[in-house]
Amino acid sequence: MKLAYLTARRKLEIGEAEEPRLSQGDDVLLRIDRVGVCGSDVHYYTQGRIGDDIVRYPATVGHECSGSVVEVGPAVERLRPADRVAVDPAMVCGDCDQCRAGRPNTCRNLQFMGCPGQAPGAVAEYRVLPAENCFAIPRTMSLDEAVLVEPLSVGLYATRLARLAVAARIAVLGSGPIGLAVLLCAKAAGRCTIYQTDLIEERLEVARACGADWTGNPTRDDIPAAIGRREPRGLDVVFECSGDPACIDQAQALLAPGGRLVLVGIPATLQISFDVHTMRRKELTLLNVRRQRGCLRPAIDLVSQGRIDPSPLLTHRFPLERIAEAFELVAGYGDGVIKAVIELSATA
Ligand SMILES: [Zn+2]
Ligand SMILES: [Zn+2]
Repeated sequence: MKLAYLTARRKLEIGEAEEPRLSQGDDVLLRIDRVGVCGSDVHYYTQGRIGDDIVRYPATVGHECSGSVVEVGPAVERLRPADRVAVDPAMVCGDCDQCRAGRPNTCRNLQFMGCPGQAPGAVAEYRVLPAENCFAIPRTMSLDEAVLVEPLSVGLYATRLARLAVAARIAVLGSGPIGLAVLLCAKAAGRCTIYQTDLIEERLEVARACGADWTGNPTRDDIPAAIGRREPRGLDVVFECSGDPACIDQAQALLAPGGRLVLVGIPATLQISFDVHTMRRKELTLLNVRRQRGCLRPAIDLVSQGRIDPSPLLTHRFPLERIAEAFELVAGYGDGVIKAVIELSATA
């Protein structure tokens, strides 16, 4: 089978490997149909690391994927060949203190697809995964929608963690795939007023198409002042989805006392600083999001029930042979890209 390898920083190559085979009774052999290029994949691609997760070459890449079941192990009951699935790329042990406490997203023995030293990356024609990581999608749902389920689930988890009240007034700083996922999920959760920002105009257009009530660009607008005129008492929740530390300062200015700041974006540096006194005086709550837990199936349901339409997020498609172009496009924020998807099969 064909697959992609990262062989150095900013170098992706297509290689050949033996097709994987089922070994455990509860495993599933999947043909991978689509893989989304995630901001985290691009961090590994351009910097060779995220924090102290460091890439060893050659490395396989990717974790956002949808696929079709080829074969199931004898213990698998919920899936059968030809089922189409959305994939949860996090393989957990089920046994550590975190898993037992209902926190599988911080499992001590986590194996995440495409993470250095963990599970193989998704950009390959076939992969073997535990059945519990494969979520069958209804016939009405496409593999394109299914590949967006994992980033959507991160947005959904962030909104759940924030305990959004109905009619909450919120801001989402950063309108990449995750910021837009937060927007879509917050809209679906109930009549929120949403202020959305980004440095890129095309992204703000998509944000408006996804239901943002107001959009602003910090290169043009003074974000805290512009939103503050509309919301003089401050916002209930701000989602930081850009990874830019400047947004943490904006968030603190925007929030009402007692507000919640949800950190979703991945900063490029190991350390950041912020104004601790505003944090203290306003008694803000800082919430950290580690990917998601338990939100894959609910995200599938939101899409299949028509309550969320994630299709505006998928802006670019590439065949496997052009994966390097896809990564360069996402790394350079070129051509209004939001989510670039690698098409490994022609199946819809
Ligand atoms: Zn991702
Ligand atoms: Zn565990």
